[in-house]
Amino acid sequence: MARIAVIGAGMGAMATAARLAVAGHRVTVYERSATYGGAVGRYERDGFSFDTGPGLLHLPAVYRDLFVKTGKRPLEDCVDMAQANPAVRHVLPAHGIDATLPGASHGGVAAALDAAFGPGAGERWNGVLGRARDAWDATRRPLLEEPLRDGARQALATDPYPALRRSGLLRRRTPTLAEVAGRELGGPLAELLIGVVRSYGIDPAGAPGSAAVLPYMEQTFGSWYVRGGMRELATAVYERCLERKVAFVFGADVREVLVRGGGAAGLLLADGTEAAADLVVCGIDPRRLPAGSLPRPAQAVPVRGDDLPGRTTLLLALRGARPAGTVHRTLVHSAGAHVTVLRPDDPATRPDAGHEAVTVSAVHGPGTSEPEQLLELAEKAVQGLRERLLWQEVRTPADVEAATGAVGGAVPAPALAGAGGRLLYPANTTAVPGLYLAGGWAHPGGGLAHAGMTGALVAGLIVEGADFRGSR
Ligand SMILES: Cc1cc2nc3c(=O)[nH]c(=O)nc-3n(C[C@H](O)[C@H](O)[C@H](O)COP(=O)(O)OP(=O)(O)OC[C@H]3O[C@@H](n4cnc5c(N)ncnc54)[C@H](O)[C@@H]3O)c2cc1C
Repeated sequence: MARIAVIGAGMGAMATAARLAVAGHRVTVYERSATYGGAVGRYERDGFSFDTGPGLLHLPAVYRDLFVKTGKRPLEDCVDMAQANPAVRHVLPAHGIDATLPGASHGGVAAALDAAFGPGAGERWNGVLGRARDAWDATRRPLLEEPLRDGARQALATDPYPALRRSGLLRRRTPTLAEVAGRELGGPLAELLIGVVRSYGIDPAGAPGSAAVLPYMEQTFGSWYVRGGMRELATAVYERCLERKVAFVFGADVREVLVRGGGAAGLLLADGTEAAADLVVCGIDPRRLPAGSLPRPAQAVPVRGDDLPGRTTLLLALRGARPAGTVHRTLVHSAGAHVTVLRPDDPATRPDAGHEAVTVSAVHGPGTSEPEQLLELAEKAVQGLRERLLWQEVRTPADVEAATGAVGGAVPAPALAGAGGRLLYPANTTAVPGLYLAGGWAHPGGGLAHAGMTGALVAGLIVEGADFRGSR
């Protein structure tokens, strides 16, 4: 049994902690704030309740697996999950297009796209997603389920998306996601693909075609909401940690990873106290550990993140009932700007049936950096928005930085294959023996599901050792 110190109580760190505790280790989580969950926060006012971080979960299997492996009660006994259906509505005001896509039905999606974008649109869309499935099948294990070793990093530098071949300049190099969208979808339909990828904080003009796995994942595995708000998921994981006797120290700001005898030996906290440990798991943006406090050699904890944009979220309290048939998630696409509007059908989010809680968010870019711009785009999805607005609360990248510690409030995106490996994350092992990386800043990257996967990888590496072949 080892003493394991975990930095941060984000979702990736807690997923790791629960798994390590089940394996018989003594695990303590050191969290600088007063609560768990990191980005998965909640804002409450006047009977309204909003998710301040993720509003939906893709790949619920990651958390189902966590609950199966760490206790008797499965995930569905601990939280009330519902698949969003319809899955998503796309509004393109400039083209007069308003398309609602059903959940988990490729045929239904094709029919809805044909009706909104014209005959053949559904076939073109599912053609792209079919090629994305090939990319997913080819890279799923090394990209998501196995530790990132040097060989895999090299193999994953090549874009697995089988773009349609075309003569001319583009044949000389693999096309970007934006080029795939233009060539294989074209017109307004290309905007859809670009908008979905953009909503993950990924720049479609620089991303490889393999970024199409993100809409593939959504369309295939669905988008899931946790009733009461996504914070309920964080609470369930926290409670699972407590059941497994993971200890939490809140208000513990970690300043340094201690290295003694060539290996990780514990943590130095901001108040000067030391917490001795045999192994350390870093579940935060490594750039957060002040310069000079990273274990030597300096590249022991490689970093990523300077390319990740901030995002702004508006929490809108509306008077008037949520209209029947309202779609949970709408993406508004306008002149290269994309915003996400979330309208959960959940009484827990509003004071009574005569009010509605709406969340609007966008990754910073042209037309989406100012709250007023977000509101203007959201109006295209929510009829009478301004007349119904009681109050709004704006969450900026500074708020995200306060909640997560991520430098500049950056939100890590899922890792992607291609682009020469630029969109991969540091491996879960480091150059310092006994120091591991978990959470959204480590392989396989950010997002609720991906950060959850780091838990299986880090726990596997610690429990089974360096030969760990990956999660199943
Ligand atoms: C606004 C927003 C919207 C998002 N939308 C989505 C979405 O739609 N879908 C999706 O899948 N994901 C989304 N995400 C991302 C997702 O929430 C995270 O990737 C996921 O929760 C994993 O987080 P993490 O494990 O990296 O920990 P984080 O959430 O980053 O938490 C890190 C924790 O470490 C603590 N900490 C930081 N520094 C220190 C220190 N020095 N000492 C001790 N503790 C420290 C912080 O206080 C925090 O509790 C969103 C995130 C944000 C912020």
